[in-house]
Amino acid sequence: MKLIQLNDWNFSWINGEKVQLDDTSEVINPATGETIGLVPNGGKELTQRAIEAASQALPSWSKLTAGQRGTYLLDWADRVLADKEALAQLLSLEQGKPLEEARGEIEGVAVYIRWYAEEGKRAYGEIIPASRPGQRLMVLREAIGVVGLITPANFPAAILAMKVAPALAAGCSFVLKPAEQTPMIAIALISHLMDTNLPAGVANLVTGNPEVIGSTLSADSRVRKIAFTGSTEVGKILMRQAADNVKRLTLELGGNAPVIVFPDADLDKAVDGIMGNKFENCGQVCNGINLIYVHETIHHELVEKLAERIKLLKVASGTEPGSQIGPMIDPSYLDKVETLVNDAVAKGAKVLVGGNRIAREGYQNGYFYAPTLLDEVHAEMELTRREIFGPIAPVLTFTDEEDVVKRCNNTPYGLAGYVYTKDAARMFRMIDGLEVGNLAINGTSLANPQTPFGGVKESGIGRVGGHQGLEEYLELKYVSLTLE
Ligand code: ADP
Repeated sequence: MKLIQLNDWNFSWINGEKVQLDDTSEVINPATGETIGLVPNGGKELTQRAIEAASQALPSWSKLTAGQRGTYLLDWADRVLADKEALAQLLSLEQGKPLEEARGEIEGVAVYIRWYAEEGKRAYGEIIPASRPGQRLMVLREAIGVVGLITPANFPAAILAMKVAPALAAGCSFVLKPAEQTPMIAIALISHLMDTNLPAGVANLVTGNPEVIGSTLSADSRVRKIAFTGSTEVGKILMRQAADNVKRLTLELGGNAPVIVFPDADLDKAVDGIMGNKFENCGQVCNGINLIYVHETIHHELVEKLAERIKLLKVASGTEPGSQIGPMIDPSYLDKVETLVNDAVAKGAKVLVGGNRIAREGYQNGYFYAPTLLDEVHAEMELTRREIFGPIAPVLTFTDEEDVVKRCNNTPYGLAGYVYTKDAARMFRMIDGLEVGNLAINGTSLANPQTPFGGVKESGIGRVGGHQGLEEYLELKYVSLTLE
């Protein structure tokens, strides 16, 4: 396995070529605060070149059969898996997540790519019964066109695959803009894609200034769609920009996911689920549990079990063996978590575990925050309204089922929800009552390539995954054909 070298990934991909710039941005290792690489600091000019290349490549790419496009995707997945260890190292180093999680994410990349390589073949049309003799009414599904893909820093490999794979399978060409904290894993993955001899211009990648690249993609009417995963705040900016040329959007935005633990739940199963979800990726997961609602009769027991488990979590640089909690990706995320915990404590929350930044030996400048359990949390605390996006488990109690559903729905977000109960009738009341796009009952895992993940309310528009995720990159064309 090759070690990561400074400047290994210092290029963008435009029209099948590596493009370097004199102007570069630094990439930081969040465990140490040290610079580990440079990438081009692109802006308007580079983005326009990428859009032009994608526009030129579109007609021939979209005319290939889905099977032909799928062959490139399958080759890409094989190449990613063959390089899994090096990619996982790079991901862990740049993003901070434990190496084990990084390996899982890279495997997930291949799973999504392979699934869409096949699903692209099922973009069926329809024949609709006609209104007149001799008439044929048809609905065709066509590639939407050039798409702009904007990805976040928390799952910089998996979310890239969740966008690139359906876009390519549908016949779209694209311009990708990865997050500024994690551009190198994106460049590495797209380099593997280019190694499949993908036609020039189908895949383009631009790193650099988010506002400038974003507004250039938005303003260009050749870009027919933006698919974005990130904050609700930026999602709204893109929506406003998209209005000017009625661009299509898929937005996967923030969340404020509750888990509700009812008295009849299997408590150990609930603890396992909460631990697995809440502390994955240092809590930086859009559908991660934000608030833990527990029935007051089992509150004490749940909190004790959680505290025991949280104390055992190993906080260390992601690349250190056995690490379970790495650093946060960005100092601004760390500041936000600290502010939210301090606000909660000032308003009466009890810190049962953690509650502070950690300066680890050898990693004094890393962005570490201790996995934290907060009890006696109530609605006046800022962290009940905001997406925490960190390793903080806040516990609230409830007594009444209807009331807890109301409290969970009292948020502009509607991404995910989790429920633990053995009562079948209650399960259906939860399915009907919770205003979320994704709901897990007696488990906390939601991500599969075959399922449509997405939010309601201010958590987003459209779906990622499933046949619905392919539809996001297809337009309908209705044809009325009269036979002479
Ligand atoms: P987070 O809060 O999780 O860091 P952001 O929404 O800030 O999420 O970032 C997600 C992605 O959106 C990143 O690729 C980032 O560079 C990009 N981004 C940030 N601001 C803009 C913008 N004004 N226009 C387009 N993309 C943006």
